[in-house]
Amino acid sequence: MIEIVKAVCTLLAIFALAAPGFAETTIEASSSSNWTGNYAPCNNHAELLGAGPLNIGVRFSSHNADLTHEFQNALDFWSSVLDLEWHSVDSEDCAMQLLDGTPQLFNWCACTSARSQLPDKADFEGWVAFNPRLKLSKQEMFLDSVHEIGHLLGLAHNSSETSIMFFFGLDKLEWLEPSDLSALSARHSLRPGFVRDHGFSKLPVVVPTRTSHNRLNSAAAFLEVTH
Ligand SMILES: [Zn+2]
Repeated sequence: MIEIVKAVCTLLAIFALAAPGFAETTIEASSSSNWTGNYAPCNNHAELLGAGPLNIGVRFSSHNADLTHEFQNALDFWSSVLDLEWHSVDSEDCAMQLLDGTPQLFNWCACTSARSQLPDKADFEGWVAFNPRLKLSKQEMFLDSVHEIGHLLGLAHNSSETSIMFFFGLDKLEWLEPSDLSALSARHSLRPGFVRDHGFSKLPVVVPTRTSHNRLNSAAAFLEVTH
């Protein structure tokens, strides 16, 4: 029996299955436009391009309650890394939108779990679509959401298998690698404490906990790992 390994993103899954070793950035650059669909626009999508502080409205249009919850956990994770706050909106005033993808969006391979749009391409609306035909665990939903939101924030794929921005099989402990943090810092403001004199340290991708002050607290996990 052939086991199909779940891929996070369509673009790089094509690269991985058809042309191993081929530079991923080549395929990412091969299309100048984002995928589109019959979805409501997010009129504030340009806010995702800002340096920060960011305060973005997120529209949750998925019918999957577990996915919506894990996507919110992923937003909390990013809020613990970046100078970013988010709130729920139910209108076209959104900057980001979680969607249930159509079969056509994933018709090349049922193994692809999700797709995001890329902010540097045309027709950017801040959309992330998940493949309803693929059964994901809650942990996979969380990790895939962190990955796809990373794309919306401008991150490309990382060839390191331990990076959250790797494109295959995000089903265990993943990390934001120093190279991911460096790329992020070129676009957005990071939370205080993530920049050290010696550069960036890797950060575990876990659901942040909230302190009694209701502040997101993945910095504690950061310190445990790096010191
Ligand atoms: Zn990806």
